[in-house]
Amino acid sequence: MRMKPEEITKIIKGQIENFEVAAIHKEVGYVTALADGIVTIHGLEQAMVGELVSFGQDLYGMVLNLEAGSVGVSLFGDSSKVKEGSEARTTGKVMSVPVGPEVLGRVVNPIGQPIDGKGPLHTKKTRPIERIAAGIVDRQPVKVPLQTGIKAIDSMVPIGRGQRELIIGDRQTGKTAVALDAIINQKDTGVKCIYVAIGQKLSTVANVVATLEAAGAMAYTTVVASSAADAAPLTYIAPYTGVTMAEELMYEHKADVLVVYDDLSKHAVAYRELSLLLRRPPGREAYPGDVFYVHSRLLERAVKLSDDHGAGSITALPIIETQASDVSAYIPTNVISITDGQIYLSVDLFNSGQRPAIDVGLSVSRVGGSAQNKAMKKVAGTLRLDLAQYNDLAAFAQFGSDLDEASQRQLRRGEKTLEILKQSQFKPMEVSRQVLIIYLVTNGMLDDIPTKELRRFEREYLEYLDLKYADFLKEFREKRELTNEIRETLHKTADAFRAEFKAKLG
Ligand code: ATP
Ligand code: MG
Repeated sequence: MRMKPEEITKIIKGQIENFEVAAIHKEVGYVTALADGIVTIHGLEQAMVGELVSFGQDLYGMVLNLEAGSVGVSLFGDSSKVKEGSEARTTGKVMSVPVGPEVLGRVVNPIGQPIDGKGPLHTKKTRPIERIAAGIVDRQPVKVPLQTGIKAIDSMVPIGRGQRELIIGDRQTGKTAVALDAIINQKDTGVKCIYVAIGQKLSTVANVVATLEAAGAMAYTTVVASSAADAAPLTYIAPYTGVTMAEELMYEHKADVLVVYDDLSKHAVAYRELSLLLRRPPGREAYPGDVFYVHSRLLERAVKLSDDHGAGSITALPIIETQASDVSAYIPTNVISITDGQIYLSVDLFNSGQRPAIDVGLSVSRVGGSAQNKAMKKVAGTLRLDLAQYNDLAAFAQFGSDLDEASQRQLRRGEKTLEILKQSQFKPMEVSRQVLIIYLVTNGMLDDIPTKELRRFEREYLEYLDLKYADFLKEFREKRELTNEIRETLHKTADAFRAEFKAKLG
């Protein structure tokens, strides 16, 4: 039998008229097993992955496993409120956290509740913590620099807004210090910051907050803190909460945001714990097979948005702690392959007093160079070369062999350069000042200043410029280009100050 088009239309119309919107199905299930913050629930047939399940008494959990006949749920809160046979209801909602500019200046836990004793958050919106990252057409290349204020980074491992740059190193090598300096340096740039503490001691987090507060950086920063005492599910969602808060600022307020994940090694450990409790099969180093996806979908949310979308950005600085400098372990290699470069902090450099202990040879930035300003680009090339030559020669010099005059000069230059790259913690430096100082050292104008006096020279020279050449500094800060005129003034001031300084040394 053949039907005419009109008849088909009639049938479809009739069906649409009689169609009832199925009410969002809220089911009730029962807890059948409970251990270590993970509950198995029978009877929630329509549950979605990531859906919130309510246990009453303000206790919620998130669906993580869907199995035939049951679902695995991780609890966010006091598991003593649940026992076998307890009721659980699906809510039809996915895990969401409060977002908006109101979160800046606050310390919150991974589910977005304030824990700084400053009262409620007053946010007006929430956002789901899982979101597909922006696609290609919504993005544009990284082109605006994100200055960290650290000489060694801004010159040789430049970071651009929207980039993902890994900070990697053994324990106690200054990883957190680099990230905090970067946050502190955003003070007058309008960049908002989110610091996500993952599985750290609460005393360490309190120190971080106090440091940021003292530097006046809390005004534009949110700290998302999951402590070592929190259950694995809370630690697991902390970075997603952080990036969700960043996304609200970026999409709705067109802001540039810097997010620090300190650190993803502990995040991977929390996810491993969670997965083993959910009885997922363990893989390499007992991590579940999807731990790569856990980190890649987080870091893919770092983005430089296109102009149509407001041109905001999220820059991600994930931190990874290595064991005995082994960068080829599972989690470090994963995250190295996801990010656009890494800042490698070396124990040997740290112990030899080179701080920040950035190993320039092993550190790279794959996209930030296009965001670097012209003047810095120019001086940084020579800087890298000087250091590479120094490292080659230093190996020879150790054998005590006689070196020719040219080699000795290079060794001396390398020494001065390393000294100039030293920088105290929480003393970020404005980029044009960095260029001035690096220019002096790469042009050999500091070769005859004793190495141990160099940091004093740097400080006093910049003070001298502030005092006597404020206009020149201002002009250079705005132009950011080493024109002949600027070079001339620079040489003039440096020569005058060097004479003064050397006279002082006697
Ligand atoms: P952890 O593995 O414990 O997280 P970390 O790698 O984050 O450590 P930090 O806590 O940042 O390292 O720093 C370790 C120590 O080194 C601290 O005592 C800090 O004060 C010191 N430190 C870091 N950077 C510098 C610096 N540029 N100059 C002097 N000291 C520094
Ligand atoms: Mg740290």
